Amino acid sequence: MPNSATPTHCPYCALQCGMNLTPLQDGGVAVVERPDFPVNKGALCGKGRTAPAVLASSVRLTSPLVRSGGELVPATWDEALDRIAEGLARTRTEHGPDACGVFGGGGLTNEKAYSLGKFARIVLGTSQIDYNGRFCMSSAAAAGMKAFGLDRGLPFPLEDIPKTGCVILVGSNLAETMPPSLRFFTELKENGGTLIVIDPRRTKTAEQADLHLAPRPGTDLALALGMLHLVVADGRVDEEYVQERTVGWEDARAAAMAHWPEFVERITGVSVPQLRDAVRMFCEPEHAMVLTARGPEQQSKGTDTVGAWINLCLATGRAGRPLSGYGCLTGQGNGQGGREHGQKADQLPGYRKLDDPAARRHVAEVWGVDPDSLPGPGRSAYELLDALGTDIKSLLLMGSNPVVSAPRAAHIEERIKSLDFLAVCDVVLSETAALADVVLPVTQWAEETGTTTNLEGRVLLRRRAITPPEGVRSDLDVMHELAARLGGEKGLEKGFPTDPEEVFEELRRASAGGAADYSGITYGRLAEENGVFWPCPAQADAAPADSEDSEDASLDAAAGADDPAQDDEATDDGTTSAEAKGGAVHPGTPRLFFDRFATPDGRARFAPVSHRAIAEEPDAEYPVLLTTGRVVAQYQSGAQTRRVDELNAAAPGPFVELHPRLAARLGAADGDPVAVVSRRGRAVAPARITTGIRPDTVFMPFHWPGEGRANTLTNPALDPTSRMPEFKACAVRVEAVRN
Ligand code: SF4
Repeated sequence: MPNSATPTHCPYCALQCGMNLTPLQDGGVAVVERPDFPVNKGALCGKGRTAPAVLASSVRLTSPLVRSGGELVPATWDEALDRIAEGLARTRTEHGPDACGVFGGGGLTNEKAYSLGKFARIVLGTSQIDYNGRFCMSSAAAAGMKAFGLDRGLPFPLEDIPKTGCVILVGSNLAETMPPSLRFFTELKENGGTLIVIDPRRTKTAEQADLHLAPRPGTDLALALGMLHLVVADGRVDEEYVQERTVGWEDARAAAMAHWPEFVERITGVSVPQLRDAVRMFCEPEHAMVLTARGPEQQSKGTDTVGAWINLCLATGRAGRPLSGYGCLTGQGNGQGGREHGQKADQLPGYRKLDDPAARRHVAEVWGVDPDSLPGPGRSAYELLDALGTDIKSLLLMGSNPVVSAPRAAHIEERIKSLDFLAVCDVVLSETAALADVVLPVTQWAEETGTTTNLEGRVLLRRRAITPPEGVRSDLDVMHELAARLGGEKGLEKGFPTDPEEVFEELRRASAGGAADYSGITYGRLAEENGVFWPCPAQADAAPADSEDSEDASLDAAAGADDPAQDDEATDDGTTSAEAKGGAVHPGTPRLFFDRFATPDGRARFAPVSHRAIAEEPDAEYPVLLTTGRVVAQYQSGAQTRRVDELNAAAPGPFVELHPRLAARLGAADGDPVAVVSRRGRAVAPARITTGIRPDTVFMPFHWPGEGRANTLTNPALDPTSRMPEFKACAVRVEAVRN
């Protein structure tokens, strides 16, 4: 192992902060600042700083476990792998391939996500694969695809934010979820720009805002429409831009004009003067941005809600222009890359569609299989979990903990328990792993090499800095071994290399010509550069990224999926034709859409959306709204961060945030246990009383299992396009807990 600092990236969120790892005498590593990485310039939140604690945690799994006599007991790797292969093979024989489910995670590297999608489709032959990234940003992805023809979290680097004039941050609490990113907004204000935060709670992020709008949860679609109404009424539409660069304005305009500001005030609780202030602040500067996160996205109308915010950008000419645009600012460590390379139910690598014949042909050729042998699209994440024990009899799960993170979690826990067979790969015995028939202990970020793609679309190299504990293997090893056991007679294991760079070379070829084209990216480049933005085709004649020609070339690649000429750009040995010819290397594409959008005609699409209610409005029995989210010291289901003493000291358990008026009605004091009850269950946690939340709303963080599990309460009503569950709003009642 190296004895000097190893530059790498944080294992947690989609910011993918850079860090150096230095070796310690005891064989561990310490996190040291890495100021050269432009996203965080050395700054880290507590989760990143303490990440090595999980590597050496006393609860780290170091031996496979198999269930015997009702208990999980240590086993050899061969015993455990044999049990998994037998379980999956039995299901496939008795019930057909689609009775085998596969569930991945947004934390898996690109190489693992790619291999998992390939494993499901050519080893198991199942269509039933999806991943927990569906729960994070799928609505923004769907809205971006509809509007721009391409989904990349941010179509510009974060470093553009301080140079714009105004940012509307919708449903994002960056101060808790991605603290190092706050610097971009501080610099924005120092440069004279303004920040508008839209959130039902007065969060730490909202406290930084020049204007904070606090709509009722689930009404930000109406808020965006009300702002667009005022844009039209005040004559602030950029008519020339709309004419030249968009399609569908008249329908979107008509929908917005039906949302009078006074009507919007009644729906949202945001006053008309506040609405006018927001429009003025957004429209007066030359440049402006709208950035959404889980607030608008985790709704049963998340795609339409994000579409309404994109409409505001399009009508004012603030998309596909320098220092202006729409972006999505959230996600897991590899939420972006994880959805580009094939672990999503409807996708093949390179952001290709599974139901596109040309895409199937291209990927099948790379995989060496008949295109007709590839299954079609499967179920979305919640639908897949809901089918466990009925249509789906066995499940292979990697990098996810749905017992804590899925909506209607008690029901999902029962569905998991009803499986014939469950295998889980994880680093600790998560709440889901504890239910498994076989648990495999796998390597973590600092113990392995692989790539991730952050929310800017910047592909990054995580490097191995430490030797994994004895008894632990990589997920890539697991897939290789299972392919050998389940398809050894066909030699399928040869298609599942254990070397991540070898997997990436295949991924490059599979993505070539797709929307998310990585064919011009190599490990060698990533080791030398601070990430490469996709699309990065392997084109010998590509011009510099920020020139107009380069944007055209890149967007042609993004829009022109399955162009055979581009498919030819990557050769069998993984080198690109540009490299083979000694030609120029494509520099990547930090900024998208300047000259054209990635739609067939190059124009962006307005979304003709109207306000509609959330799936479960409050009523007499359940009169309060519950919204859920995160706290700074814990991450997602807490499977890793709940194992870190420093983080637990800062955030030891769940709580219910509620307004003093609601607390007074209950007779509850700060710290008293209160019960939150929805149609799906009951959760109990201490009250945290604050005027920073609306009196009609309570908030719970979702990181904990057990009695205070917020997802016991949440509503799995799905967005019709993205299939995102409605984590952000459901009807509950709140009760004091006596004795
Ligand atoms: Fe890691 Fe995200 Fe914290 Fe950065 S902000 S250190 S990527 S968890």
